[in-house]
Amino acid sequence: MFIKNSISTKLLKKVFLIYFSITLIMTALQIMIEYYDTKNKIQKDLISLENIYMNSLKNAVWDMNVDQIESLTDSISKLSFVKEVTLLDASDNIMSHKKAPNLSNRFSHEFNIYQEYENKKVLIAKAIFCSDQNSVIDILKTGIILIILNAMIKSTILLFLFIWAFQKNLIEPLNELTNQIDNIKFDTLGTYKIEVDVPINSELYMLQKKFNQMSEKLDQQKNTILTMRQEYTHKLEREVRERTLELEQLNIGLSHMATTDYLTNIRNRRSFFDVGEQYFLMAKRNEKELCALAFDIDNFKNINDTYGHQAGDEVLKQFAANCKHHLRESDVFGRMGGEEFTALLFETSLEESIRLAERIVKNISDVGIPIGNETIFYTVSVGVASLLSSDRKIDDILARADRALYKAKANGRNQVASM
Ligand code: GH3
Ligand code: MG
Ligand code: MG
Repeated sequence: MFIKNSISTKLLKKVFLIYFSITLIMTALQIMIEYYDTKNKIQKDLISLENIYMNSLKNAVWDMNVDQIESLTDSISKLSFVKEVTLLDASDNIMSHKKAPNLSNRFSHEFNIYQEYENKKVLIAKAIFCSDQNSVIDILKTGIILIILNAMIKSTILLFLFIWAFQKNLIEPLNELTNQIDNIKFDTLGTYKIEVDVPINSELYMLQKKFNQMSEKLDQQKNTILTMRQEYTHKLEREVRERTLELEQLNIGLSHMATTDYLTNIRNRRSFFDVGEQYFLMAKRNEKELCALAFDIDNFKNINDTYGHQAGDEVLKQFAANCKHHLRESDVFGRMGGEEFTALLFETSLEESIRLAERIVKNISDVGIPIGNETIFYTVSVGVASLLSSDRKIDDILARADRALYKAKANGRNQVASM
């Protein structure tokens, strides 16, 4: 993986720059020291020439042997480190002068030549041997090249060693660490461990350890959040279930309230017509028998007046329950209002219906209702009508049952009449 702003590359550059600068300074210092050492050596060599040539020069000058003088200065000037030779007489007149071209930064050794004459030391000449910087450099040349080569080889080897060490100990483990961190997924948090081969307790080892610890903590928090979410979802689901159940029960209650008569607990007028209409249409379409029974409790007003409204209510309840008991589950039975009730008997003939009505009338008149210390006896009149092919709506058959009921009332109540 290539990283643009790699810290290790920057570090490598810095370290190597510092090392290279130090090497450069050290090399320059070494060359300078070598230079002055060599210059001192040449200076000493120039001095040693004084001892070597002193006697020969003294004799040649004393004898005034010009050829010998020339030959001596010539041989001295041919020495590699001697660049200029000057021989002066006692009055500083040049006796011999040899000089190489292009001298730079000359340095010299000067000495006097004396002759013993009549027990006296007489100055007969002055000699000056010169050398220069080029002579120093000529001698140093190979040494300098070796020093520079040495520095370059050392630097290059060190550079590669640095690169290798950085690569092995820093860049590669760091890349491996980054790759392994990439592998951590939401699902593997906590279970996936970063394992890079690094020395124990090194910085990278600590980094890896801290990362694994962080991953474990994150996993714990993840699990806590997931558990909380699960609990919350369950709670929510439970609440929704409870609310739904409550609503269903409420709906059942509401629909019961909307279709049931609160006092007698049988169908109310509207529910009776809703269902009765279906029965009427079904009977008409299938040409089945259908009979309507219209009930009206006799002299109910008297019951109210005599025993009170509450007793009246009890009579209404008992009457409805009693009728229901005589009817089939499939019969439609409802309270039309006050003390008036109606029943629709499906697939029942007029004769059967009249018989049933008579049974009810008889039973009602026989059974008393205990209220406090007393027993209330009451009667009911019933009008029975059967479906005619000319009937268009349920009201037609109900109207006939009502007319039959009036007939029963007119005939003296507590009886059944039919039409
Ligand atoms: P008839 O034999 O001709 O039917 O006479 P009746 O007294 O039964 O008839 P009427 O229509 O004169 O009286 C009905 C009475 O029923 C009048 C009313 O106060 C009473 N009533 C109506 N609804 C209720 C009720 O829910 N509870 C009670 N206790 N009385 C009711
Ligand atoms: Mg009435
Ligand atoms: Mg009545």
